[in-house]
Amino acid sequence: MNEDGATAGHGTLSRAGAPAPPGGGPRPDVAVLGGGVIGLVTAWRAAGRGLRTTVVDPAPGGGAAAVAAGMLAPVTELHHGEEELLELNLAAARRYPEFAAELAEFAEAGIGYRACGTLAVALDADDRALLRESHLLQLRCGLTAEWLTGRECRRLEPMLAPGVRGGLWIEGDHQADPRLLTAALLAACRAAGVRFVRQEARELLLAGDRAVGLRLADGERLLAGRTVLAAGSRSGQLAGLPAEVPVPVRPVRGQILRLAQPPGLPPLLGRTVRAVVRGEPVYLVPRESGELVLGATTEERGWDTRVTAGGVYQLLRDAHELVPGITELPLVETRAGLRPTTPDNVPLLGPTALPGLQLATGHHRNGVLLAPLTGEVLAETLTGGELPAYARSCHAGRFAPGGPGGGPADRPAGVRLSEVTG
Ligand SMILES: Cc1cc2nc3c(=O)[nH]c(=O)nc-3n(C[C@H](O)[C@H](O)[C@H](O)COP(=O)(O)OP(=O)(O)OC[C@H]3O[C@@H](n4cnc5c(N)ncnc54)[C@H](O)[C@@H]3O)c2cc1C
Repeated sequence: MNEDGATAGHGTLSRAGAPAPPGGGPRPDVAVLGGGVIGLVTAWRAAGRGLRTTVVDPAPGGGAAAVAAGMLAPVTELHHGEEELLELNLAAARRYPEFAAELAEFAEAGIGYRACGTLAVALDADDRALLRESHLLQLRCGLTAEWLTGRECRRLEPMLAPGVRGGLWIEGDHQADPRLLTAALLAACRAAGVRFVRQEARELLLAGDRAVGLRLADGERLLAGRTVLAAGSRSGQLAGLPAEVPVPVRPVRGQILRLAQPPGLPPLLGRTVRAVVRGEPVYLVPRESGELVLGATTEERGWDTRVTAGGVYQLLRDAHELVPGITELPLVETRAGLRPTTPDNVPLLGPTALPGLQLATGHHRNGVLLAPLTGEVLAETLTGGELPAYARSCHAGRFAPGGPGGGPADRPAGVRLSEVTG
């Protein structure tokens, strides 16, 4: 087993059929499968509540957040029929300033939190009609969004194309840098004593009616009081998941580009600019570091993370119509990532019908935004609390055959190691 943080000294690992190695220490209270932004924030908050916590991931700190743009955008991400998700996203956005301040201690460069607002613009009459519809929905939901003329848009962002027909100024949609965020979360986890096992988990271990940990790639078992499934788009693929715990999470590919704004010159844009061009959304997120993130495609291509010529072409073409000056900037990175997506685009959080197993997955387009709220919710449910009322829409049992309930409440029943199967 390859692990770090071993000095923290907790976790019982046993080779199949063999007793736990001497000196292995007590088993962790919580094993988190997945060290993406969601697994890390869960582990950090669990450790903060005094739970001995281990994260299992061959590459913690990677995942979709290494690709994501980091828009914190409850308003511009609002779509018809997703009002419950809006409540959740707004609650997460409210937590961000404090979350960023808390993490500053662990991140020399901060997490790139910028309360800079967002400008959503329209390039032609069709786009404008779409944007007007979004505006009506936003107003119906009590949100703040101000309609601007094309000229007013260009006054805010002079590099916008002269053809911009109008737009919405959304002062509450901000941004963070997901790479800085995961780096800060990794440091925060280490400081809180979270242990990392750099391996794949292959199977959920069951004992009677309870999840008791994970079988690792090297055949060893990590036994834990509770297991949290936070494996992003791969969450539903874990062997050993019983039929009564469906985890309907699928990958939705997003291709994304990074451009570099030359140092010493004024930035091309001062705030996030987004639009729908010929029915395809495009956004530009300028960071204080000079990076300009240009995203993103939305594609159902399974677990394929290749970047395609068509994806890059579409993004550059649409962004160029919006901000022609981008063609002057060096293109420094092209990447694709997988959004972990549920059938209703709402995450799956908290206890399941299987005692000992909790979910923290399915964050789709909003995992960066929802990180602080997810950590808070899981800290609560992992210490025996109920799913908070504001997170009821995320009930992990809502896709189970028996209805919305998650089955019997997750209970911290002890388990004899001799009962362990699988
Ligand atoms: C192009 C793009 C743009 C985005 N833009 C935004 C944005 O602007 N704002 C926003 O809020 N969100 C955005 N997102 C969404 C956000 O990135 C995701 O919702 C979030 O990163 C999901 O985090 P996660 O930890 O749940 O999953 P992941 O990031 O997928 O992490 C899962 C982790 O689990 C590990 N893992 C998987 N299987 C196993 C196993 N068997 N054993 C051990 N480890 C395992 C993986 O190695 C990985 O580290 C974007 C996503 C993409 C792709």
